[in-house]
Amino acid sequence: MKVSRKAQAVPPSATMAVTSRAKEMKADGVDVVSFAAGEPDFDTPEFIKAAAVEALKGGQTKYTPAAGIKELKSAVAEKLKKDNNLTYSPEQIIINIGAKHSVYESIQATLDEGDEVILPTPYWVTYPEAIKLAGAVPKIVQTSRDNGYKITPGQLKASINDKTAMLLLNSPNNPGGFCYTPQELASLAEVLEGTDITVLSDEIYEKLVYGKTRFVSFASLSEDAYNRTLTINGLSKAFAMTGWRLGYTAGPVEAIKAMGRLQSHMTQGAVTFAQVAAVVALRKGDEAIEKMRLEFEKRGSYMCERLNSIEGVICDEPTGAFYCFPDVSAHIGRTIGGAKVDTSLDFAQALLEQANVAVVPGAPFGCPNNVRLSFACSLEQITKGLDRIEKWLKT
Ligand SMILES: *Cc1c(COP(=O)(O)O)cnc(C)c1O
Repeated sequence: MKVSRKAQAVPPSATMAVTSRAKEMKADGVDVVSFAAGEPDFDTPEFIKAAAVEALKGGQTKYTPAAGIKELKSAVAEKLKKDNNLTYSPEQIIINIGAKHSVYESIQATLDEGDEVILPTPYWVTYPEAIKLAGAVPKIVQTSRDNGYKITPGQLKASINDKTAMLLLNSPNNPGGFCYTPQELASLAEVLEGTDITVLSDEIYEKLVYGKTRFVSFASLSEDAYNRTLTINGLSKAFAMTGWRLGYTAGPVEAIKAMGRLQSHMTQGAVTFAQVAAVVALRKGDEAIEKMRLEFEKRGSYMCERLNSIEGVICDEPTGAFYCFPDVSAHIGRTIGGAKVDTSLDFAQALLEQANVAVVPGAPFGCPNNVRLSFACSLEQITKGLDRIEKWLKT
């Protein structure tokens, strides 16, 4: 059958090559340690599951309004007020089918053909594809390790031209494991003043910050920032609810209404009983979230410490999300165990084949010197995997 040019232009996920090979090896009985996960290893807290079961049994099985049930929009508004000091009315909020859907739909609703989107590296692999599917153009800005892989105000200023329509920010960052400080965000906001550039702020890892890191929503920085920002968040990462498919977007009413029109024809709305349970999660979830966060924090600092003790591996302490993103460029260009390692993908493939540890190459995120290791797995697995990596890099 004919496949559209649009669909043909979407490449298969560049991170899949390693993860599908890891699965294959596992199925063949190989003891693979996987640091490739992009989701929490915890189960959804019981009280949230119970709320969904109750909703199902109570007959919450029909369509909801396309933009989401009123109670959930109110619970999101309360959350944004309480956690982020942001005031949104329910009509400024839309419930989407996962934050990935929020990203896609908000881009479809706000960008035109030829619009440019400033996208700093490292970026989540979905962003450039979502931008291109809207006919817009990702303008990738290469950041550096010296600046913690964050875009500087100078870089932002230099990237703006009359086609610039959006800046896409993701803090805490996947795959980078870092978080912008409030001051860093404020200096970016200042550059945008006087422009009509929209900020898409993907805050899905908001609850997973470590050490002294303080999370601040971009939209809360100033009235100017509030008026230009679409805030995206969801339940997947903080509540270990990836399979429930619930995300949300908050922002200026005209953009949210436009998203609602698209959504009414594309997906209708999110799953009804999942929305009912999400109300309970948002209102009563703080304790469950904190338990998981503390566990991630322990794992992240241990993984980072182990990585830095390996020669030729440089890793910044993760301050957010659940990823270490070390620079392994000292090992790129080497021959390891007979394999020529010329790229981050070669590195990941050789590590998997020879030492049976799965990591994700950095190149698809725009960072060819790095690899991503997820610490959404047990301390025991982290120890075992790092022992293997250490030994492998010595060969
Ligand atoms: C996981 C993730 C999301 C969205 O996840 P959903 O499951 O669709 O809510 C969005 N952005 C980033 C950067 C992510 O890592």
